[in-house]
Amino acid sequence: MVICFIGIGSNLGNREKNIEKAIAKLRKIKNIKIEKVSRLYRTRPEGYIRQNDFLNGAIRLQTNLEAGELLTHLKKIEKDLGRYETFRFGPRIIDLDILIYGNQRIKTKDLAIPHPRMYARDFVLTPLADVAPELFKHKIIRTISAMRAFIKLLRAENKTIGFVPTMGYLHQGHLSLVRAAKKDCDKVVVSIFVNPAQFGSKEDFRRYPRDLKRDEKLLKQIGVDAIFYPGVKAVYPKGYLTYVSVEKITERLCGKYRPGHFRGVATIVTKLFNIVQPDTAYFGQKDFQQARVIEKIISDLNIPLKVKVVPIVREPDGLAMSSRNVYLSPQERKDAVVLYRSLRNAEASVKRGERVVKVIIRNITKEIKKIAYARIDYVEMADTETLEKVDKINGEVVIALAVWFGKTRLIDNILVMAKPNCRLARLRSGGQAGIKW
Ligand code: AMP
Repeated sequence: MVICFIGIGSNLGNREKNIEKAIAKLRKIKNIKIEKVSRLYRTRPEGYIRQNDFLNGAIRLQTNLEAGELLTHLKKIEKDLGRYETFRFGPRIIDLDILIYGNQRIKTKDLAIPHPRMYARDFVLTPLADVAPELFKHKIIRTISAMRAFIKLLRAENKTIGFVPTMGYLHQGHLSLVRAAKKDCDKVVVSIFVNPAQFGSKEDFRRYPRDLKRDEKLLKQIGVDAIFYPGVKAVYPKGYLTYVSVEKITERLCGKYRPGHFRGVATIVTKLFNIVQPDTAYFGQKDFQQARVIEKIISDLNIPLKVKVVPIVREPDGLAMSSRNVYLSPQERKDAVVLYRSLRNAEASVKRGERVVKVIIRNITKEIKKIAYARIDYVEMADTETLEKVDKINGEVVIALAVWFGKTRLIDNILVMAKPNCRLARLRSGGQAGIKW
């Protein structure tokens, strides 16, 4: 028998009744034993919002049906209850999804298990936690030897390991990395370590926000396998002498304003990679330069792992999420929106055909300077590979900036793309107009 979890949802007609009926039909199937049904949670629709709220639940069952056979039964129940095809995210009388089927990972044309979007969806995870508390348990590991022992165990079971290094005080940006790791890997380790080596002597190492209890609570909503939470003395014992230094790409952008920062970052991630030995490590595009530095370390030092860079998660008003946002006063928080707004305006001007970097940067700077007290470290456009400054856009470039609001330094970036056959580019180079973007 295999333990299996099913997600169930409805937002048409009598939602409770639909769910009850589906469960009754499920109970009647030979070879299925329902062990537990979660509470039902009312959730806002996703994707297409002009429809009723959903009721969502989860079912824990045992079965000796193959996953494919189980899927056929679920589809039949959906059909019997009157489900008809709508568009993606459309309303539905009943929705039954296999979320997890034993330890299996399945990817066929009709079936992907674990369900590929479940970790991105709180409306799936919340009821699942009712019926599968074991999936939401984690260990807190405080020593390097215990971390190694845990990894050895996972390796003995042939598990793939996803790793998310953080400095804690987690927000949805961090959680999006965890969700990506959950989707790809059997087991997920998150490290929380405020790394003194990456802070300058006048920077905010001491006041950097720390709250393990709060972080644990957030991670518990998605379910990770271990939180690696080492102390500074374990990571940098007395007599520590070895640092990892990446050249050139660390001298630009933030590197110019935070001497030693990337040496500290490179050192800690290399150490963490050696301790955790993951298959894949996840980083945010928010720290674009950092992601590039890490990719360089991995290729230059032949570290056998894959890196995935996950898009920036923003507050509803566009400000990039950051643990440092808590430093901002209410006024600074309001004003900080100018960063993303100016980046979006720049992006729009590139889409309209602007290719002259000086002009784009001048516009961004002008907009930020409307906030009189904001202090710009840099606004630059750089090659996404070498991070060298560009003065004409050709292909993909990053617009990156770092700006102080009071005592808080914020960074943000956006990738822009100029297609060589863009109408304005052609006009400027004497080519023919009328080509589509
Ligand atoms: P930190 O705790 O600030 O060192 O960040 C840990 C990881 O989370 C890094 O890979 C960051 O790039 C990533 N991260 C931080 N903020 C965001 C965000 N708003 N969106 C996506 N990833 C982020």
